[in-house]
Amino acid sequence: MGTIGFIGLGNMGAPMAANLVKAGHEVTGFDLSSQAVEVARQAGCAIAGSLAELADGKDCIITMLPAGDHVLSVYGEIAGHVALGCVMIDCSTIDVASASQAHEMAAKAGALSVDAPVSGGIMGAQNATLTFMAGGSDAALEVADPILQPMAGRVVRCGGPSAGQAAKACNNMILAITMIGTCEAFEMGRRLGLDEQALFDVVSTASGQSWSTTTYCPVPGPVPTSPANNDYKPGFATDLMVKDLGLAQEAAKQTGALTPLGELALKLYRDFARSGNGDVDFSGIIRTMEAAPKKTP
Ligand code: NAD
Repeated sequence: MGTIGFIGLGNMGAPMAANLVKAGHEVTGFDLSSQAVEVARQAGCAIAGSLAELADGKDCIITMLPAGDHVLSVYGEIAGHVALGCVMIDCSTIDVASASQAHEMAAKAGALSVDAPVSGGIMGAQNATLTFMAGGSDAALEVADPILQPMAGRVVRCGGPSAGQAAKACNNMILAITMIGTCEAFEMGRRLGLDEQALFDVVSTASGQSWSTTTYCPVPGPVPTSPANNDYKPGFATDLMVKDLGLAQEAAKQTGALTPLGELALKLYRDFARSGNGDVDFSGIIRTMEAAPKKTP
């Protein structure tokens, strides 16, 4: 088992680092927050006093940070300290342009690099069932795969450098759009007098089917584990969906891709967040549809 430096021990990073410890890796963590550091220490991580100390001599360095700027700043600080042949894996969700820059910085430092954003949220991080969307050279993906496995339900090799971030932006744009469509349909169904369970039974087995209905149904009842049954908490926060849709729109602008529904989804989620719902699960956007004045047909 190898030596791993883990930078960013927040809601996602701490349980991911803990699963690497459980798999037998020697994990050294670093975070700016003393509270985050304490959680990782209790999970069996050693703690580095600085980024330079963390990077020194490690086989692998994993980052799980809020955004592209954080990743580039950390990569800048550790570039002069990483061991030759070290594999740098960035699991943060960041913009494709910053991901490409991070790969270039790693190459200049003599390291292999992989972008590997995740899907599955905090529960997935705790239960080691995350889906990793990995991008990098074949050599880097080969080295990274066994390191990611103890944290993963699945590791999907998406292609070359930054392909993982590209896949994540595409996936979450689909998720946001299907969730909004599902919320629109369930609220319209209510207003037409349809029983929610009956509508679920149809949609979940017919052509309107999607994860937003079958796993994450936005009305209470049909899927007992969906956040709708718990006042839309906890789950995948609207603020995080706004962030991911913003990254998707940046990618659309850079490539000229036509994404009118992605653009509208970002506007709807941003409005929902700004009205005090940033920490509400993203399926709570059904409240926007529920708030529309009712008319008698
Ligand atoms: P978080 O805010 O809980 O954790 C981020 C951690 O990074 C914090 O502890 C912070 O102190 C630390 N940090 C920031 N700058 C640093 C620096 N320069 N050096 C060291 N540490 C630094 O965020 P999170 O929920 O763990 O999310 C992390 C990433 O995972 C984000 O990119 C997010 O979009 C992505 N993600 C989150 C979820 C989720 O459900 N929370 C799901 C999928 C993907």
